[in-house]
Amino acid sequence: MESYKIGILKGDGIGPEIVDEGIKVIQKIAALNAFKVDFIDEKIGGDAIDAYGVPITDETLKVLSTCEAILMGSVGDPKYDHIAPELRPEKALLKMRKTLGLFANIRPARLYEALKEHSPLKSSILSDGLDICVVRELNGGIYFGEQVESADGQSASDLMAYSAPEVKRIAKIAFEMAMTRDKKVTSVDKANVLASSRLWRKTVIEVSKDFPEVTLEHLYVDNAAMQLIINPMQFDVILTSNLFGDILSDEMSVLTGSIGLLPSASINESKLGLYEPIHGSAPSIAGQNIANPIATILSVAMMFRYSLGRHDCADQIENAVLKVLNNGHRTIDLAGKDQKSLSTSEIGDLIAEAL
Ligand code: ATP
Ligand code: MG
Repeated sequence: MESYKIGILKGDGIGPEIVDEGIKVIQKIAALNAFKVDFIDEKIGGDAIDAYGVPITDETLKVLSTCEAILMGSVGDPKYDHIAPELRPEKALLKMRKTLGLFANIRPARLYEALKEHSPLKSSILSDGLDICVVRELNGGIYFGEQVESADGQSASDLMAYSAPEVKRIAKIAFEMAMTRDKKVTSVDKANVLASSRLWRKTVIEVSKDFPEVTLEHLYVDNAAMQLIINPMQFDVILTSNLFGDILSDEMSVLTGSIGLLPSASINESKLGLYEPIHGSAPSIAGQNIANPIATILSVAMMFRYSLGRHDCADQIENAVLKVLNNGHRTIDLAGKDQKSLSTSEIGDLIAEAL
């Protein structure tokens, strides 16, 4: 029997509750498709700080590197705000991305017909549903450049640097993605001002020559931020750097109604992937069994598609989510005033049943 080894990082806040629903779905799909899954539980974030004094241990990173995929909840809690920056829960994410070489962050955002009224955009703008995928570089750029803070506390700098090979590998992912979708890539940079963006643009054009079927457009990041609001239907795949991708993908996420719906993948050269909802640990609603587990469950679908090569299972999961939403089932973040909301585990049960 085929078997997959999946790392589990429940993390903090609502993390454990939503990951449990993801596991429920994986177990159901494994039973239906007759394969075996080994879950390897590890700690991250505040959970790891409490146990080991650091947000992620080297041992954990070593174990994770032997998995085929990792499912994560979320990290962070205000109770760690006072500790040194290099020991905070969020540091674990940067360390894991770098150590495992997770350079490609893939964030699809789809607005479901059943949730159209939750989008802040007018329905006239959203003629036939929104379906955009952001491909964000995750291992370079300003988040990993040299940082200097002067001793007198009066100046500081961050270095934004990219090399052509770094741009090339992320561009390739975006074009490959576009080939499976509507065959359009919009590359977002600030090439009118930044040298790193000029390299970015030149390199993306180079890579595009290998994908003659894909239409390539370029936008400056300020214009892209505006275009996402006034004409989002023009986008298929958005390719961008670490910093711009962070900002644009958050902007894009609100267009689809709830932050509780959006999945993400961060993959490396050998297709090991970290799969997690785009939202945070939402401490204010933790432990109440009310968080929306759909972003996590859709992250599981991405895991089957990108790391395990099981497109059939990914489709099954996405269809099950669609069915539950179309039947009007909602967690509290999406329920109307007079509508009954279901709990985290009830939605997970319904999705597992719909499989
Ligand atoms: P981070 O810094 O990790 O991004 P944050 O505090 O900025 O965390 P989130 O934790 O994502 O942001 O929460 C933002 C808001 O969205 C909160 O009000 C939270 O209640 C809500 N929220 C986030 N995730 C969910 C979810 N899965 N279901 C319902 N509501 C959610
Ligand atoms: Mg946030």
